[in-house]
Formats: sequence, structure tokens, C-alpha cells
Amino acid sequence: MERVYLDNNATTIVDPLVKDAMDPFFTKMYGNPNSLHSFGHEIRPYMGIALDRLYAGINADDEDNIIVNSCASEGNNTVIKSLYFDSVLNSKKTQMITSAIEHPAVSEVYEFLEKLGVDVKWLPVNSEGIVDPDELRKAIDPDKTALVSIIWANNETGLINPVKEYGKICRENGVKLHLDGVQAIGKIPVDMQDIQADYLTFSAHKFHGPKGVGGLYIRKGSSITPLIHGGEQMAGHRAGTVNTPYMIGMGLALELAVKNLEHENTEVRRLRDKLEDTILGIDEVEVIGNREMRTPNTILASFRGIEGEAFLWDLNQNGVAASTGSACSSESLESNPTFTAMNIGADLAHTGMRFSLSRYTTEDEINYAVDVIKKSVTRLRAISSTQNKEYI
Ligand code: PLP
Repeated sequence: MERVYLDNNATTIVDPLVKDAMDPFFTKMYGNPNSLHSFGHEIRPYMGIALDRLYAGINADDEDNIIVNSCASEGNNTVIKSLYFDSVLNSKKTQMITSAIEHPAVSEVYEFLEKLGVDVKWLPVNSEGIVDPDELRKAIDPDKTALVSIIWANNETGLINPVKEYGKICRENGVKLHLDGVQAIGKIPVDMQDIQADYLTFSAHKFHGPKGVGGLYIRKGSSITPLIHGGEQMAGHRAGTVNTPYMIGMGLALELAVKNLEHENTEVRRLRDKLEDTILGIDEVEVIGNREMRTPNTILASFRGIEGEAFLWDLNQNGVAASTGSACSSESLESNPTFTAMNIGADLAHTGMRFSLSRYTTEDEINYAVDVIKKSVTRLRAISSTQNKEYI
């Protein structure tokens, strides 16, 4: 076994079927879909199929909108800044709400708006690591709240927030709800007829599609001010020549992800649980969050007495790719497990290690990873106890 990839919350391998479906649109059917000649015309039916697949994948209504963009960061920026421009800037509504466990693609946007003077309320997480709907109910002011943005499934812990309840609370109060659905799609069912959210963002590379393409769902009746002005692409919601190969790839990737949900919930969950059971069998290890409340592929574990950077390095040296969010880690660019874990009250400083599986993870890989993790923990704890003795 050369390498085992257990960092699927960071990004995933592109499904070969997706890659094959994209290929012709680089060299054969490369026209601009807005052109009036045959090179342009011939692309449009494929874009239609891709959009149909996106609508079906999240059960959007025909009258809802799905904007194809470059990534979830763009989608999140678009929604939050749009509501800022449309409501806050003209003083219609002056307050915005988000949570303490958002990905930087949301939290950094709100921090930026705070610097511009916006009143942003940060909802805490409870002892189970989720945002309590009662906290949302308390924070909302129907006259003041312009937007609520909450992560559906957390990228670090995999913990799934009760988004259906958020939807009801926001609807009752006439407040727009924006969900960051990046880590939910492809792992748990996402049905926009069931959840009363106004905006949902996603990124294809988290569900075996290509990097650099994402989607923004906008419920009918909700509007958006474009982040990128220019041409009339995406019905005027997002200017820029559409990345047709990637849009087509994302459509198929979503269809395949939905087809594989059952597999995700059984086989991926079984392998995740097997890995988790072994990890929990090691002394002084804690896993954050109840398994049943997490996406089926994710484990965030705290290994007491082991420095996160050293652990990550040692695992990597032995062929296991995981992720940690300790302060000086390059991985913290993508996420910060320590941040989330500390918010839910666990003593995880420098020890949080995330293992995230996918439908491509095999039993052999898990067996290999289990062996590497156990040996690595033993090795690093031995080193650390020798070092401690030297200082006594
Ligand atoms: N939101 C969540 C929950 C994520 O996990 C990520 C990526 O890790 C993003 C947003 C940003 O996605 P992208 O980098 O594709 O814009």
C-alpha cells in the first residue's frame, strides 16, 4: 500500500465517469454557448442536461434558480454581500446572524462586514457541537435580521445541524436563511422541498466533481445582487463565460453522488465506524460528536499527548493523508478543527486530527490506516515521554 487518502472533506478524487463526460467539451465541443453559430448551439443541450441534474440532485423546484459559479466560497460571498447591499446598506434591515462554527468562506465574509460596521450576531454551539435552534430563535429580530447563514454539516467534525428547524424559525419570522451545504451534499440527502432555506451553496470537488466549479441555489421569490457584474450569463445573476466542461462535470457528479447516497450511508459508514472503533481503542483518545449525528464519512479525534503537526507529518511519512487544523499547519488554510472543537468545549489544542472517507475508500485502506495510526501514536507518545523525562 503506497498511500491512503483520508482527507475527503478537503477534496475528492474526480469520478472517472465525470472526467470522461467533461473531455469532449475541451477539444471538440468548445464553443461559447452564447455564440449564435453551431459551435455555440451544440453546447446548450448539454448545459440543459447538467442543470436538470443539479435541480434533481437537490430536489429544486423548476421555478427556483441554480447559478453555476466557481466554488462555494463564491456562492457564500454572493449571498452574504448581496443581502448586505440589498438590506443592510439601505438600512431596511441592519443585523445579520451566523454561527461560531462556520467555514472561513462564511466567517471571513462576516468578519469583513463587521469591519464595515455591520451588526453581526455569532450563535454559539451547544455541548453536542451543534447550533441550538433556540439560540437562533432568541437571536432573530424580525424587524432587524437581514440574513441567517449556518453551515449544514461541519467540515471538521461532520456534525449535522438541524437545518429543517432553522428553516421553520426563519420562515415564521420572515427572515432569509442561507445554508452552506458543501459538506452535506453527497453525504446525506439534500431536499430543498423539505428544507425552507432560501439559499444553498455547494462545491463540485467535494462530491467527486472537478475543482473550480460550484452552485448557488436561490429559492423562487428570493433575489440576488450579482457579485460579478458583466455579461448576461446565468440569467444576469453571475457574469462570465460559463465553464461548460466543469458545469457538465458537476451535473453528472451530483447525479452520481445522489445515486451513491445509500452506499455512503452503509459501506462508507461501516468503514468509518471500523476506523473510529480502532481509534477509540487507543488510550486517551476522544472523538468529537455522536456518530449518529455526523456525516457518515467523518471522524475528528483528539489524541492526548501528541502534537498535531508531528502526528500529521508521521502519518504522511507512512502514507496516510489526514488533516489537522492546528495554528501553524498549512492544512489550516482549508479548515481549522481546533477552532471548532474548542468551541464545543473539548480540550483539543494541537491534537485534533480529521479522517474523512469517500466512496472510493476500501477496506484494505482502512486496515492499513488503522495499523499506521496505532504505530504512529505509540511512536510519538514514546518520543514525548522521553523528552518529558529529559526535562524533569
Ligand atoms: N464551506 C465548507 C463547509 C467547506 O468545507 C468548504 C471547503 O472546504 C467551503 C465552504 C469552500 O469551498 P471552496 O473552497 O470550494 O470554495
